[in-house]
Parts: sequence; C-alpha cells; structure tokens
Amino acid sequence: MNLKNYNWFRIDSHCEHFYEVEAIDELKKVVEKYATTRYKIYIIGEGSNILLHRVLKNIVLIKLNFRTIQTKHESKELIIKLDAGVQIDDLVNLGIKYELQSLLQFSGIPGCMGGATFMNIHYNDTSLSDFVQYVTVMEKSTGKLRTIPKNKIHYAYKTNFFKQNPNVIIVNTTLKIKKTRPTTTNLKAIKREIIRKRNSRYPKSNTCGCFFYNLDQKKGKEKSAGYQIEKANLDLSSFKTLHLHPGHKNMIVTKQGCTSDDIFKLAQWIKEKVYEKTGHTLEPECRLIGFETSL
Ligand SMILES: Cc1cc2nc3c(=O)[nH]c(=O)nc-3n(C[C@H](O)[C@H](O)[C@H](O)COP(=O)(O)OP(=O)(O)OC[C@H]3O[C@@H](n4cnc5c(N)ncnc54)[C@H](O)[C@@H]3O)c2cc1C
Repeated sequence: MNLKNYNWFRIDSHCEHFYEVEAIDELKKVVEKYATTRYKIYIIGEGSNILLHRVLKNIVLIKLNFRTIQTKHESKELIIKLDAGVQIDDLVNLGIKYELQSLLQFSGIPGCMGGATFMNIHYNDTSLSDFVQYVTVMEKSTGKLRTIPKNKIHYAYKTNFFKQNPNVIIVNTTLKIKKTRPTTTNLKAIKREIIRKRNSRYPKSNTCGCFFYNLDQKKGKEKSAGYQIEKANLDLSSFKTLHLHPGHKNMIVTKQGCTSDDIFKLAQWIKEKVYEKTGHTLEPECRLIGFETSL
C-alpha cells in the first residue's frame, strides 16, 4: 500500500501491513496479532507531523478512525471525551458550540486527537495540555487498556509520557474546559480570522508544519528555529525537489517527485549548517517512522 495520501508531505511510502481501524475491539485484534512478532507497531493520525521512510519494513502502521465525542456539563466546566480519530477541527467547532473561546486557538491546525495529544498541539500561549485531564491508552504488547492521569503525563515542550513510552496507543483523551464569558458572540469570525492569518503565514500542504523544535533555552526571536535557519543564510539551490517556506523557514515544503530521502537529507544538511553557522543544535519535532538513523 502506498501511503502518499496518508502523510502531509505527500511522499511515496510503501507499507505491506497497513490497517485502518474503526473501533477499539478492532484495534485490539490487530495489536494482539502482532504483539509477539518481529513487527513494530506505529500509529498515525492525519499524518501532518510525520516523515515516513520510503519502505516501511517490519512495521505495522495503524490509522485510528474511531471518532466518538462525549460531553458532560459541570457547573463551571465542560468535560469532553474525544476518541483518537476525532479531528482537531471538531474540537474547535465544539468551542464555538459551547462558547469555549480558548479552544479556538487550535483553529486551522491539521490532525486528529491522538496526534494532538501525543504532540501536545499549541498555538500562541494555548496548549492542549492546559485542558487534558486523563488519557486512555492501549498497550501494544498486551492490548490492555489503562488510564493515564494528567499528573503522570508530564507534558513539557519536547517530551511527555507518550513520547517516552512507545508501547502505548492513545485511544481517547478527556479534557476539562472552564466556562468563561467569551469576548465576542461571533466565535465563528474568530475562527475564520485565525485561519486567515495562518494561511497567510504557513503553507497549506506538502509540509509537516515546523520541522525542528524551537530552542527553548533561548529568548525572543533567537528562540525560533526558523529564525536560526534564516540567520544561517543557506543556499538550497542543489535541492531541487523541496524548498523552505519563504514566510517560515522552519517549514520544509515538498515539490512533485520529492522522496522521503530528499527530506531526510535536507533536514540533516540544515542541521549541520545551522550548527556550523550559529552553534545551535536543532532537533526534529517531526516524527520519523521507519528510519534506521535518527536526525
Ligand atoms: C500546515 C501545518 C501547520 C501546523 N501548525 C501547527 C500548530 O500551529 N501547532 C501545533 O502544535 N502543531 C502544528 N502542526 C503539526 C501537527 O498538525 C500536529 O502535531 C498534529 O497534532 C498532528 O496530528 P496528526 O493526527 O496529523 O498526527 P500524525 O502526524 O499522524 O502523528 C504525529 C505523532 O503522533 C503519533 N500518534 C498519532 N496518533 C497516535 C495515537 N493514537 N497514539 C499514539 N501515538 C499517536 C504518531 O505516531 C506520530 O509520532 C502543523 C502541521 C502542519 C502540516
């Protein structure tokens, strides 16, 4: 199966063992089938923050399509439980429906709740971790479900429980959102405006968004990986199948014919050059799947 339409770079990646699952029971069956084999199980959501190897050998890739949403009103908060396959946009639309303005910060971020919980999506000063209460996970080795409470997730800019525990699959995420009076009654207009701004700054396709993490030990613009790449003044003319987005140099954008290797080589080259020219070591935020060497 070619996963070109399952990753936002729109590059070819071949996987013999690819599953789309519609329910938890189905996921459990796939997990149990491969638990004691040589195959490594990876989960993808919308593929907006992954770089897939050209050939995924000894890998089982699973896309979760279960999408139930449950809501419960408490006096001052709304509790929302979202399956891993629910789109981030559906969460934003709940923000409009229930007048939870803080959720609108996620307007226009591609992906679904499994990926959002794993990556801890953020925009401006709002992060998903501000709302996460607990997460239900399935263990890849046993198919058993367990609940990870917020205080065990240890969300930080680059790390969290999920990134450190490759044995777990996020099945659903429960959020608690404070009901506060919105600053406007037209929340749809706020969503539109955030998306308009994002579209003027970011590419709309063929990218994974920010490829490298920002430098969290730096302050102001120095912190931005895009700024450091810009400062390194790189000549990309020998890379014919990709470019860096003019408005945001931390975003790699693929062109027709681009391969997984092309992206890996460009990222490696950027990392080397930025280190040479600025002394800073960039680390990939984009998640690599199927590569033998890391970036
Ligand atoms: C144009 C563009 C703009 C973006 N803007 C932003 C932004 O403003 N803010 C921001 O934070 N991010 C941004 N991103 C990054 C991306 O949208 C988020 O990281 C998003 O949460 C990824 O979700 P996904 O479903 O696509 O995950 P995927 O890309 O499919 O997966 C990402 C990682 O999560 C893991 N994963 C996915 N689902 C599960 C699961 N159920 N269980 C365990 N692991 C899982 C995958 O194995 C992988 O390691 C942007 C990306 C693009 C392309």
